[in-house]
This record gives sequence, C-alpha cells and structure tokens, in this order.
Amino acid sequence: MPTYECPTCSKRVIVAEKEDAPWRPFCCQRCKLVDLGRWLDGSYTITEPARPEDLDEASEGNE
Ligand SMILES: [Zn+2]
Repeated sequence: MPTYECPTCSKRVIVAEKEDAPWRPFCCQRCKLVDLGRWLDGSYTITEPARPEDLDEASEGNE
C-alpha cells in the first residue's frame, strides 16, 4: 500500500485508493494551510539583505 509522509507534521499517511489523498502531500487540509502560511510568512523565502557597499557606490562622486 503506498504511503507518504506529511511535510508539516511528519505523520505517515496510508493511501488506500489511488484517489484517496486529496491533501497530498499533506495529511489534511489543516497541514496544507499551515505550510501555505509559512510561505506567506516569508520563512521559506530567501531575501538578499541590502549591502552597505551598494549605498557607498551611490554616494560616490559627491564632492
Ligand atoms: Zn499533517
């Protein structure tokens, strides 16, 4: 029987039928929403911090 692990709660889900996993790869709607919330929070996104060098370059030739 095929199984998969919910990425949110690490619960092992057993798929009894081929179409029996509507929230795949999550175990339920709640876990799917939790994962989506993480994305929206920005904890998964990689943002490049502003570097001081960029600011220095902009102020050059200011004499
Ligand atoms: Zn889950």
